[in-house]
Amino acid sequence: MDQKSVWVGTNWKMNKGPGEAIAAADALASFKLPEGVRAFVTPPLTSLKDVASILQDSPVMVGAQTMYWEDSGAWTGEVSAPMIAECGASCVLLGHSERRQNFGETDWTVNRKVQAALRHGLRPLICIGDLLDEYEAGVSQETLARQTKIALNGLSREDLRQVVVIYEPVWAIGSSGRPADPPFVSEIHTKLRSVVEEIAGHDGSIRIPLLYGGSVSRANIRDYVALSDVDGVLIGRAGWDPEDFMSLIASV
Ligand code: PGA
Repeated sequence: MDQKSVWVGTNWKMNKGPGEAIAAADALASFKLPEGVRAFVTPPLTSLKDVASILQDSPVMVGAQTMYWEDSGAWTGEVSAPMIAECGASCVLLGHSERRQNFGETDWTVNRKVQAALRHGLRPLICIGDLLDEYEAGVSQETLARQTKIALNGLSREDLRQVVVIYEPVWAIGSSGRPADPPFVSEIHTKLRSVVEEIAGHDGSIRIPLLYGGSVSRANIRDYVALSDVDGVLIGRAGWDPEDFMSLIASV
């Protein structure tokens, strides 16, 4: 591994009830992260508090998978940033494509959530991604630039220091997806780097971490992490087993 810090996260999605989540967190609790690695895990909300409490003395950060932008009120079924923070989470995934596609999240609602997370001291892990037809039509860059600019709209320099942006091609996610070719990811991330530098400045004082996600596995993790504009990966299926997650981390 080179000098840059490498982020490795796993999103459990709607897997692991409290019992299984606690067992997985127990397995992760004694894990020593290699130097330079920043790891995070996003359990379902039903076990957020337990997992955060088990991992409170561990360097593995714990986050939620989504949240609402209001702090409280008549929003049946939702949870807010202060509630997530009170559970002990330090970060939150926002705008995952499964949320955008199945639960109506838009670029602008993602922006409201990003601002709410920051107001409550949560690090926003912002997912962006191109659809298969956008990829095939060659407009991935346009989609990703729009999603990124809107997600980061109105953020102060202090706020920009907290955010992480995760490129997850929708066509690469899940068992029916195929991992994006590293040269394509490299091209996308180089352009994304210039999009975020346009927002955060070119002087290098703020480096927004840019992660890749979508069918990351033991077979390809190093290919992505080796790319100069890739600061880490978000793993789904291949990281759900804690032993596998730890061995993926150890492999970067
Ligand atoms: P996957 O999921 O690794 O199972 O493709 C990635 C994600 O949705 O974050």
